[in-house]
Amino acid sequence: MKFLIVGAGISGCTSARLLADEGHEVEVWEARDHTGGNCHDEKVGGVTVHKYGPHLFHTNDRKVWEFLSRFTQWKDYRHTVVADTALGRISIPYSPVTERQLGRSLDDDEIRELIFVEYSEKQWGIPWGELPAAIRGRVPTRRTDEDDRYFTDAYQGQPADGYAAMFARMLDGIPVRTGRDKQAWREVRHDCDGVIYTGKIDEYFGYSLGRLPYRSLRFEHRRSRERLPHAVINQCNRLPYTREYDHACFSLENPEETVITREFPLAHDPSNEPYYPMPFGEGQALYQKYKELAAAEPGTLFLGRLATYSYLDMWMAVAQAMVKVRGILNQQPAEA
Ligand code: UDP
Repeated sequence: MKFLIVGAGISGCTSARLLADEGHEVEVWEARDHTGGNCHDEKVGGVTVHKYGPHLFHTNDRKVWEFLSRFTQWKDYRHTVVADTALGRISIPYSPVTERQLGRSLDDDEIRELIFVEYSEKQWGIPWGELPAAIRGRVPTRRTDEDDRYFTDAYQGQPADGYAAMFARMLDGIPVRTGRDKQAWREVRHDCDGVIYTGKIDEYFGYSLGRLPYRSLRFEHRRSRERLPHAVINQCNRLPYTREYDHACFSLENPEETVITREFPLAHDPSNEPYYPMPFGEGQALYQKYKELAAAEPGTLFLGRLATYSYLDMWMAVAQAMVKVRGILNQQPAEA
């Protein structure tokens, strides 16, 4: 069988590899001039810069970890986050470590006001009360143990020579066409038995039902000889940016000059990138209609954050591709 994969992010690369491993012919088309999607990183001077925002890998899924470990070794990176709040700079998620910094304990309402409400309203552009539980609960309100890591998953690490290198190895031997017009893949579609589409689902259908809402980000980078005192400093306050981070920390590098970035959330429009789907309220209602169209689309599998309009972590995108590609393979006759 021949498969056309549209998009070379996590979902596209994972699907391409899994199908190629089973002996299928695969071709990947990508609009950007690089593979790896938003995980893409590149060296700026001596520091690895995460071009589309910080990516910190973590999972409890052993199969996902083992799959990725075929393409990279890992640096043993321990991710912690601090937040600037009305009560000063504290470690988050809230834990006994935070209580010692504050010199007292807070109840759940106080934690919500201190850490979540202002940051979330900046990030999502809507009042806290309108955010779904799935987003409100992504970062735990409180931890009761001494573990001050941002993620507590069993498997954590940063690809030893970066995400770009990991995805390049995943695509080893697979034809990849980068820098192509976003619609150009449609011209070769008839040559293929199946399509895996990982772009925006509303774009796939020419925005015929309207545009889905996404949140975007504007990055302000600066080169600096001074390092930040922490890898990530969240701004849980009214400053216009949500977080500031030091790229040298993520790859455990020690360059003469690092790159420090501030993230400013904003609404997505055609001039910027659709980083975060908003699968709640009107966004969810519109997505359901696109999903119905997608279900009627023959031979096309929609995968990933943009095509399934869901806030997937990196490991979830890999896991989703594993399950769905396995589904395609199980449908094929044995000799295919
Ligand atoms: N969040 C918050 N304050 C923080 C950190 C996170 O309110 O200091 C909320 C916010 O709504 C954010 C969500 O938790 O969008 C998920 O945070 P995470 O750090 O996982 O965001 P990501 O890295 O995916 O942007």
